[in-house]
Amino acid sequence: MPELPEAETIARGLDAAVAGGRVARVRIHRAEVVEPLSAAVFRRAFTGRRIARIGRRGKWIVGLLDDSQRWVTQLRMTGRFTWRAAGPRQPLRAEPHLSVSLLIEPDGGEPGVLRFYDTRRFGRMRLLAPAVYAELDARLGVEPLSDAFTPARFARMLEGGRAPIRNWLLDQGRVAGVGNIYAVEACHIARLDPRRAAGDLDRNDVRRLHRAVRRVLSDAIARRGTTFSDYRDLLGGSGDFQNALRVYGREGEACPRGDGTIERAVLAGRSAFYCPACQR
Ligand SMILES: [Zn+2]
Repeated sequence: MPELPEAETIARGLDAAVAGGRVARVRIHRAEVVEPLSAAVFRRAFTGRRIARIGRRGKWIVGLLDDSQRWVTQLRMTGRFTWRAAGPRQPLRAEPHLSVSLLIEPDGGEPGVLRFYDTRRFGRMRLLAPAVYAELDARLGVEPLSDAFTPARFARMLEGGRAPIRNWLLDQGRVAGVGNIYAVEACHIARLDPRRAAGDLDRNDVRRLHRAVRRVLSDAIARRGTTFSDYRDLLGGSGDFQNALRVYGREGEACPRGDGTIERAVLAGRSAFYCPACQR
C-alpha cells in the first residue's frame, strides 16, 4: 500500500511529466473512482483545465489547477499512474483495471496519455474547490519531513498518548503519510518497542523516534519507495526500499544489529515486526 515515499515518488514524476500541461480529454472508465461526482460532471469540470503543478499531502497526490481547484488522487491499496507520449488523436481505450485516462497536452512537448489503474478499486480521484480542500487539509496531521515537525512539537503531540507507538504513528490526523511499513521500521531505528504506549516515551526516546521517522522516509524516497507487489512509479519502475527493510516482513530472521531474532506482534489487526533484544 503506497505511503508517503511512494506518493512523493509518483507526485514528482507527474510534476515533471505534466505540470504546465492542459487536460485535453478525459475518459472515466469506472464511475466509482470519481464519486460522489458523476463521470459526466467530473469530465466537464476537468476538461480544458491547465495543471499548474503536482505535489503531495500525506499519502494524497495533489495537483493545483489554473482555476485554483485541487485535483486530488487517493491511491489507497493499488492505485497507480502511467504516462506515455502519444499522438493528439490517441483513442482513450478501456483496458482491464483502468479507471481513468487523460489526454494531456504539455506546455511544449508531445501530447501524452496519463492512465490511472486500480485493481482493488479503492482509489479515488476528486476535484475540490479551495475551501473544501483547505478543510480536508486541516484534518491531516503535520508533514513529517517539513520544518514544522520538530522534536518539541512531536513531544507535545505524544504526551498522554495511550495507543501503542506503532498505532499512534498510523493516525493520519497526527503525522500525515506514515503507514505500517515505515512506522515499524522507524521503531526499530529508534530502538523502541512498537507496543509501548506513545505517552510513555521520555525526551531521548522522542528525539530518536523523531529522527528515525524522518530518516526512514527520506531514505525510502531516495530509493523510490517500497515495492512488494503493485506499487510502481510513473514509468513502471519498481521501488527499491524493500531491499533495505530492517524488520518489516522479516519475522524469524536475524536482527540487522546481530543481537536477536525478529518477532511479529499483531496490533490493531495489523502486523508489527520488532527485535526484542534491541527495542525497549
Ligand atoms: Zn536487534
